[in-house]
Amino acid sequence: MPAFLPPVTLISLPRPPAISPRRLPRATLAVKGSARAQEILTGLLASNNDYIAGAPLPQSRLASPTLRENLAINGQHPEVAVIACADSRVAPEIIFRAGLGQLFTIRNAGNVAWGDAVVGSVEFAVTVLQVPLVIVLGHTMCGAVGAAIETATSGEMTAKSPLANHVARIAEVIKPVLGDENVESSAVVENVKDGVQRLLGGGSQVAKLAKSKDIAVVGAIYDIVSGQVNVVA
Ligand SMILES: [Zn+2]
Repeated sequence: MPAFLPPVTLISLPRPPAISPRRLPRATLAVKGSARAQEILTGLLASNNDYIAGAPLPQSRLASPTLRENLAINGQHPEVAVIACADSRVAPEIIFRAGLGQLFTIRNAGNVAWGDAVVGSVEFAVTVLQVPLVIVLGHTMCGAVGAAIETATSGEMTAKSPLANHVARIAEVIKPVLGDENVESSAVVENVKDGVQRLLGGGSQVAKLAKSKDIAVVGAIYDIVSGQVNVVA
């Protein structure tokens, strides 16, 4: 017989702990937005440092029946929205050592920030969930960006499938850096900066909240080899 959990009352359930902020060198922080966003980013980068060091996940962030039930009853209160690549090596919850309910994650090949599905999801995060920090997270060795470099270099931009369409759009984004010596890393950064600019541009709710400094939108790159996340935009 499976062991059933004891009943949990609404009153006794605490809100899940937020990612605790720690001090990092100021040079790694480039947040233009609320002080809260800055504080959260500091905490995330510190947590990423712990991930690099291989530190075990704190008990409070481990998935457990209690945490699951807590989130079900009290709802989700994530403080960060992340647009990340679908690459299986770039799971934001793992590289930032976050628990259930802490990251609002949107993933697609090449971590692009266009289309209603992506931008609408960010809009949901910042308006309904009142998430103060949005991160566009690119990564080294990105297959989608690599394919876009090939497409842009060969000049064969004719779209033949949803994948080809997608790659062709990224190819347009990274075209300006094709002549760079280290084109792969330049293209990854260019793609992330494009994502940030798309979110900040136009008249979307995301752009309005960023302009009023109620939220911050930053771009960062995850290094597949070292595990390090660096803010680039
Ligand atoms: Zn990728």
